[in-house]
Order: sequence, then C-alpha cells, then structure tokens
Amino acid sequence: MEPWNACAQNIKLIEHALKGKWILDSGATNHMTGNTELLDGTTCLVPSISVYLGNNEKLMATRIGSFKSPKISIPLLVVPGLNVSLISRASVCADLQCWIVLNGTGGYIYDKGRSKLCLLRTLGNLFILVLGSQSKSRCLVTLFSKGNINIWHRRLGHASVETLRKLGFHGDLDDCHICPQGKLKHSKFARRTSYAQQLLERVHSDVMGPFIEGYWGEKYCLLFIDEMSRKPFIKTLKSRSEVAAATLELIKKERRRTQASLVYLRNDGAKDYETKVLQDFLRQEGISHEVTETYCPQLNGLAERLNLSIMDKVRCMLIDANLTPKLWPYAAHYAVLIYNNLPHSALDNHKTPNDAYADSSDSSKLYVFGSISYALQPSKLLHKLEER
Ligand SMILES: [Zn+2]
Repeated sequence: MEPWNACAQNIKLIEHALKGKWILDSGATNHMTGNTELLDGTTCLVPSISVYLGNNEKLMATRIGSFKSPKISIPLLVVPGLNVSLISRASVCADLQCWIVLNGTGGYIYDKGRSKLCLLRTLGNLFILVLGSQSKSRCLVTLFSKGNINIWHRRLGHASVETLRKLGFHGDLDDCHICPQGKLKHSKFARRTSYAQQLLERVHSDVMGPFIEGYWGEKYCLLFIDEMSRKPFIKTLKSRSEVAAATLELIKKERRRTQASLVYLRNDGAKDYETKVLQDFLRQEGISHEVTETYCPQLNGLAERLNLSIMDKVRCMLIDANLTPKLWPYAAHYAVLIYNNLPHSALDNHKTPNDAYADSSDSSKLYVFGSISYALQPSKLLHKLEER
C-alpha cells in the first residue's frame, strides 16, 4: 500500500456539535481523529507523520488506532490537537471495497454484496456516520514502515519484487545473489476456481521432511493452511507419529479462538492422520476428512504451494545469515510469520492472511533473519559496573 500521506482539507466545522461523531470527509486522504476514546486501542507510529489541514496548519500523527464499530474495522491516524474525527471517503471505499450512496438527508455505506454497513445522516453540509450494532466485517491494512527496498526484501524472507511493490516500496531491487541459491524453480500447480467462503471451512494440511535434525530433535514440519484466509500454521515435530496429536491440538485451539467450525480437513494419503483418536474426533464433530491421492501433490495444491513458498524462504534466510541448516525450525516459524504479514495474491484488496483471519498484522517487529541481538540482563542480578 501507499505510505501514509495525510491531508485533511474540508474541515471548517462547528467543533462542539461534532464531538464524538465521525464525519465522512471527501477531502481527507486518511481516516484520522484526535479523540482516542473513540478507538479500540492504539499503537505508536514511528516515525510520526505530518498532517496538513485546510488552513495550512500542520499537526503530527503520532499513533495508529482502529475504528470502533461492529461492522467496520479500519486503521486510522491519531492526530493530537485535531478536534474532529474524519473518515476519508476515498480511503474507506478502497479499504472496505464498499459503495457510498448519498441523498439530501443522509445515505448508506454498502459492502461489496450490497449489505448495509453503516447509516449516514446529514448535519449541516456534513455527512455523519450513525453507528449501530452489526455483525463483524474486518479489513485491516498492514502498515509497513518506509525503508530501503533491499533491506525489506531480506526482512521479508527474500520476498518477490511484486510483493514489495504491493507494499508500496518503490525503486529497484539490487541483484540478490541469495535468491537463485534458495529458490527452487517448480512447475505450477493447478488452481481451483472456487474456494471456501468461511473461516475454517476447509483446512489443508501436509507433512514435510525428514529434514536434517534441528537443535531440539525436530525432523518434520507439519503445515496447515486455512483455505478462506490463506493463513498458515506450523508445527515442527520430532517424528511423524506426532502428526495426528498435533493436528487435533491445532483444530481444537483454532476452533475455540475463532468460534468457527471446521467443516473439511484435507490432506494427502499420508497414514499419519489415520490414528483412532483423530479419526474418532473428526467423526464425532462432523468434520469431513478429505484424503487426496498419495502421489498426486497437485490435488493437495494449496498446502503443497505453501510448502514450496515457506521452504524457499527458509533456504534464502539460512544462506543469507550463513547459519547452520540445523536452525531450519526457527527459520520455518519465522517464514510463516512473514507469510502471514504479506499481502496474498488470492485475497482482495491486498489483504494479508492475518487480516483475513481477523488477526492483526504487525510488520514492526520484522528483522533480517539471523540479525545479532543482545539479551538485557535483569539489573538486580548485576553489579553496577558489570556488562549489561
Ligand atoms: Zn533475495
């Protein structure tokens, strides 16, 4: 996405009448407010950015918050000193892919499927959002700090130029000598044309390995991917006999966390999923177990494509950091974290799997894999002059 570039032009308002109200503003380039009470918590914006008002006054946006409404969830700028709360008409249409229909007394914001997201009422010449309780619809936008495209290429596990462009990075990517070493060329797997519409409707799973033994004895990698959101989950295992138990644990955990019910579990014909405990559970819970042909990975395409994508990142990161392959489990977990925070080509509006799964995206803690870090010792355990 484009970096924040904020400007609020059409503010000429009777401020007290608008306290606590959200104004639909056609001149604002971003959603913004000075009133943090209207938000669902905020996080620090580093570096803070300038916001120019219509009278050329400059304010600084210092935090990012999330708009508090059951049916609309959008990120916005917190601008201390701004006495009004603005929803940018252009951004809300882009963020939610919605329609806005206005008339003399107000109007509606409609979602893609033409269901009403929000009522609008006029106040003077302004349109005010009337917030009611609705079921949730969520679209968070990942905010990537501005920075050098080459550093971010490495932070994001050697992400492709196309992905970096989607994130708003411009400029040329230098020739990377790691990418050709780490990324396999593979023939394309056929894509289906219809996909799950609900969270956890269909989860695909696959086991990879054996790999070189990790430091904690890990040899296998168990991957899951939720078809609707494309969010992957990973578990590293010492033996294939742990596959069924790990699958059961993940299903229970994610069902509890999302309140969604799993309908289909799909994997290839590996025997590891055939334990009595797992099969009994699937039967009791009414979960259909879809088993594809053992030697036909194309039928389990979603999980197989994920495997290739994750392993490309793992190889690149280990080569780039010049680390022993025994650290592959750490690289694999990190690769999944990166994957969850990158826009996915199968999702609308450059959403990340985290956004689509209603988890929050956070790119602020991504570093180049293998970066040196120092552990701060608790000061109570140290003498005054000792190294921290
Ligand atoms: Zn690279």
